[in-house]
Amino acid sequence: MSEQEGQGLSSFRYELEKQPPKPNVGPGGTTRQASAHEFPVSTGIAGVSMRLEPGGMRELHWHANAAEWAYVVEGYCRTTILHPTGDSATDDFGPGDVWYFPKGYGHSIQGLGPGECHFLLIFDNGYFSEDHTFSVTDWIAHTPTSVAAQNLGFSEEDVASLPSGEVYFAKGPVPAPEVGNREVGLQSSSTREQRSLVTTHRYPLEAQEPREFAGGTIRLVTVEEFPISTTMAGAILELEPGAIREMHWHPNADEWQYYLSGTARMTVFMAQGHAEMVEFEAGDVGYAPQGSGHYIENTGNDVCRLLLTFNSGHYQEISLSEWLASNPTQLLATNFEISESLAERFPREQHFIVSWSDTRC
Ligand code: MN
Ligand code: MN
Repeated sequence: MSEQEGQGLSSFRYELEKQPPKPNVGPGGTTRQASAHEFPVSTGIAGVSMRLEPGGMRELHWHANAAEWAYVVEGYCRTTILHPTGDSATDDFGPGDVWYFPKGYGHSIQGLGPGECHFLLIFDNGYFSEDHTFSVTDWIAHTPTSVAAQNLGFSEEDVASLPSGEVYFAKGPVPAPEVGNREVGLQSSSTREQRSLVTTHRYPLEAQEPREFAGGTIRLVTVEEFPISTTMAGAILELEPGAIREMHWHPNADEWQYYLSGTARMTVFMAQGHAEMVEFEAGDVGYAPQGSGHYIENTGNDVCRLLLTFNSGHYQEISLSEWLASNPTQLLATNFEISESLAERFPREQHFIVSWSDTRC
């Protein structure tokens, strides 16, 4: 792998927000996707950047081969989901909130306003897309009119007035603040307690107290905090200028990253002498395959903020510092062919984030 690949042609970087939106998807929203078709390394996780206008909706649909984990970047939206048990749930989401929909459950998303709602959808299968996402209008349009009429209790004339193909996005009125069985309202009148309440499908990640380090913070949500999220976990990582999310790997999951702000560098180590350095800016997607060694360095003058997602509900990592600290000094001296006095200076505990000041002392 050449150094030039780090200039924007890397196999571990996809410039998601620089892509044109998906065409012919109707009014009320835009969508850009990074599936394994667009971003070949990302076989285990796919992602979508979607925006809905107030009153715009992503129509009723399901994903046959993937669960959906989402993070709201800005704005407000409402989802409705049906469980196989017959229970349904309607929830409102605002900035910093996460949702999780199990594989195959039917759902929809509506923009509530004010302003656009921007959210990231992450799927635990790199091939979640077109062949495996089923829309309600597409289904009914490809059902004999007589069957659709009998099933829906419509006349055949009524059925003929339904869309002749997939709608995908549709634009309608902004829904009322209070509807149906909505568990929590997040409009401007909502209280801090409501905002931070966990429901079956909603986890307010931004409301979580972060783990703090000298060089940054992390907020992490796994199946332990958010029980329905059995197949995915996620985090918001903030790195101060010069700080490094230390060298580590994940034994149990791939990692899919979305850079929300700032600039960063990652090197992905793939064994056998293969390593690729990748530069990122806001709007880019990064990927670290399961078991690959990697770090993330803030290369800018501002805080670098990114979303991390994993295709396991349980978060696992092995950090270089903690691994070295777990070994006898003499063994490390032999392994690295150095003196014991130098080997004694290896880390004695996990760093997680290494700040600029740490590296100078
Ligand atoms: Mn979906
Ligand atoms: Mn990682």
